[in-house]
Amino acid sequence: MKNYFDVIVIGTGPAGLFSAINIKNKSVLILEKNSKPAKKLLISGAGRCNITNSGDLNHYLTKYSDKKNFVQPSLKEFTNYQLLEYFSKNGLNCYMDKNGKYFPETDDAHDFLNILIDSCNKNRVKINYNSKVIDIKKNDDIFSIETEELIYNAKIVIIGTGGLSYPTTGTTGDGYRFAKKFGHKIIPTRPALTSIKIRDYSYKEIEGISLKKITISKIENNKTISNTGDIVFTRNGFSGPGIIDFSRFLNNDDEILINFSELKGEEIETNILNEMNKNGKVSIKKVLKSTNLPERLLEQFLLNLGIEDDMQISKLSKENRKKIVNEIVAKKLIIDKVNGFNMAMVTAGGVDTKEVNRKSMESKLIENLFFVGEVLDVDGDTGGYNVQFAFSSGYLAAKKINL
Ligand SMILES: Cc1cc2nc3c(=O)[nH]c(=O)nc-3n(C[C@H](O)[C@H](O)[C@H](O)COP(=O)(O)OP(=O)(O)OC[C@H]3O[C@@H](n4cnc5c(N)ncnc54)[C@H](O)[C@@H]3O)c2cc1C
Repeated sequence: MKNYFDVIVIGTGPAGLFSAINIKNKSVLILEKNSKPAKKLLISGAGRCNITNSGDLNHYLTKYSDKKNFVQPSLKEFTNYQLLEYFSKNGLNCYMDKNGKYFPETDDAHDFLNILIDSCNKNRVKINYNSKVIDIKKNDDIFSIETEELIYNAKIVIIGTGGLSYPTTGTTGDGYRFAKKFGHKIIPTRPALTSIKIRDYSYKEIEGISLKKITISKIENNKTISNTGDIVFTRNGFSGPGIIDFSRFLNNDDEILINFSELKGEEIETNILNEMNKNGKVSIKKVLKSTNLPERLLEQFLLNLGIEDDMQISKLSKENRKKIVNEIVAKKLIIDKVNGFNMAMVTAGGVDTKEVNRKSMESKLIENLFFVGEVLDVDGDTGGYNVQFAFSSGYLAAKKINL
């Protein structure tokens, strides 16, 4: 069996596959530990895979927190529209939802993968499955890549092993170990894009209720950081894009402040006072309908405060009025747990981007060693930004290798 290749790629995620596909005039092998490719891509977007997002480069650059400069060259070199064009040229169009997210017209991520594997076949990229890489060394100019069965050699190695989230898909942080061996710094990893558990949670009964455009904030180093987005009440905490996107800034035991309403506290209080003056006999629950919050949620707020929901508004004390407003617009909650890697969509942290050339994805420490996709210390918001970065960084590495 041939064991020398010009380029060896580790991992069949979107980053690894797309770098391999775009390498020209070189022998390329991909080593994948699983028996099938791209397990994570197939479960992305609940099996539909939100492949990318609309919006121009400037919009994109706001989606990777402080990694704007690092991701810029790859996202510029291979844009969201080039990605959509690649798939449409290969017979798969995508549609955009109302939030600017793109999905395959078939709503099946397998169709993305079939095209990628087809491109590998056309470009004579070989893929060896059940080939877990356990070690990589470099002697003189040649890398030796050790799997459980064989040792391969290559002039160039691309590490596309992903992060630590959803370890059942094959991502168990192996790439960090390889990078560390070559002297790379690993920024401490933690689960990101995940849901949270709340201490002494009092909304269990309203699991499943969702709210739009909710602002969640926390104080960090005397500064308020916040995010506005849709949230869902779960059995023991919160999920939904508003929380998931903010989760990379959250830690266990943090205090967060939630405004469950789009209205300001003063507006809610004025409404209550106006109604009191107009018709004191109307119930508090009816008055609170002006907040546009779901009835079950309003009932839960009042229950939590020990206030009868059919109490006449004229009987509401000033103290209870303030408490209700506070419960709606400035609810303080403690995070019991930011849910772990088993539930997180991506990994924050990873190979330190300071030691990787942002214009080529090549290591600044080891010539001909490349890092692509989630193994790097790059994580984006939900909305297709993570998969797009995987494709764009893979493309950029291939471009450098083709020079
Ligand atoms: C539930 C879920 C839903 C998601 N939905 C979306 C979405 O809709 N849109 C979006 O943009 N992002 C989404 N993401 C994130 C996105 O899937 C990842 O960011 C993306 O897949 C990362 O691509 P990658 O190529 O870097 O790594 P991965 O896709 O993680 O692939 C890494 C590959 O490397 C292989 N590997 C690892 N170690 C070794 C080794 N030692 N030897 C050989 N092979 C190895 C793994 O088996 C795996 O196949 C979602 C993630 C999850 C978990």
